[in-house]
Amino acid sequence: MEVPFLDLKEVHADYADELKAAAARVIDSGRYVLGEELAAFEREFAAYCGVRHAVGVGSGLDALALILRGYMGLGALAEGDEVIVPGNTFIASFLAISGSRLVPVPVEPDPATFNLDPACVAAAIGPRTRAIMAVHLYGQLADMPALAGLARRHGLLLIEDAAQAHGAASEGRRAGAFGDAAAFSFFPAKNLGALGDGGAVVTGDARLARRVAALRNYGSEVKYHHLFQGVNSRLDEIQAALLRVKLRHLDDDIALRRRVAQRYREGIRHPQIVLPKVVHEEQHAWHLFVVRCRSRDALKQHLQARGVQTQVHYPVPPHHQPAYAELRDVRLPVTERLHEEVLSLPLGPSLGEVAVECVVDACNAFECQP
Ligand SMILES: *Cc1c(COP(=O)(O)O)cnc(C)c1O
Repeated sequence: MEVPFLDLKEVHADYADELKAAAARVIDSGRYVLGEELAAFEREFAAYCGVRHAVGVGSGLDALALILRGYMGLGALAEGDEVIVPGNTFIASFLAISGSRLVPVPVEPDPATFNLDPACVAAAIGPRTRAIMAVHLYGQLADMPALAGLARRHGLLLIEDAAQAHGAASEGRRAGAFGDAAAFSFFPAKNLGALGDGGAVVTGDARLARRVAALRNYGSEVKYHHLFQGVNSRLDEIQAALLRVKLRHLDDDIALRRRVAQRYREGIRHPQIVLPKVVHEEQHAWHLFVVRCRSRDALKQHLQARGVQTQVHYPVPPHHQPAYAELRDVRLPVTERLHEEVLSLPLGPSLGEVAVECVVDACNAFECQP
């Protein structure tokens, strides 16, 4: 049996009629950018997150960058300020910071949850620190109460990179509702994915929301009048209409992902395969199911031979990428070890029971070479 890592065609087949109707509605409307679909999606997504404002933008990376640029424009951040970020995140978190002429300060995660270790964050706070970027990696909320406490005590902004965590919740409060502002990605493979690129900024701060809404549209609030040097980064009408359909199914999709994850956690029993630590069921939206194994490459090969596709999120940490030569001398032993050990198993709302059992059996049959 072949088990794909994520079959988006199959995911979308479940509501293809709704998606096609939504796209047709936009095609027939004659309005393709900054129209009613986007305005409706922004209202619906803000309500879903339990936050006052959502602003649709072109990607998750742009959402992060526009939050930072928005705060720079409002005087809360200045060029050269330091932003604390987990060392094991996807490179976009770093790119948003350095691309805004701020300085990323990578900090070690807790290897059990893969999320920022608040003690390491506290140790990294210095005179130039102005913000913490918490990433809810793989779909699990970072320790937001601890990070919010640190941010408050030190007068720092708390920004959520929620690109992997749509729908993760704690006591009814969802990802996006914990920080000063949050960035979401709607890249197709994310939990709430468009059929192309997209992103959103979510915030309770009306001034920031207004600033980001202008920045994404050439820095303009009134056509051909430009308050700021903005960019062109707008969530288009077709994607907004498709996302409105998928948002209605998001909680059901997460429940299906949770079932797969639950089965992996019950079924995979192997002394060399370390399962992810779940702080609280509700806090995990299961974007990815990531195990650790000292013989990661051998495990990946073994699973491939049994037809099970896996991925590595991520093979090289940002501070070891050629793009970040300036961080070459940074030492992050926990982060570096994780990049050698992590392996993501197939996971998605359409993954069937037979496929899930196939993955469990294949994992349990792994014979580790000494
Ligand atoms: C996907 C992702 C992003 C970037 O989102 P794009 O829409 O691909 O630009 C940022 N941060 C994290 C943690 C991500 O997983």
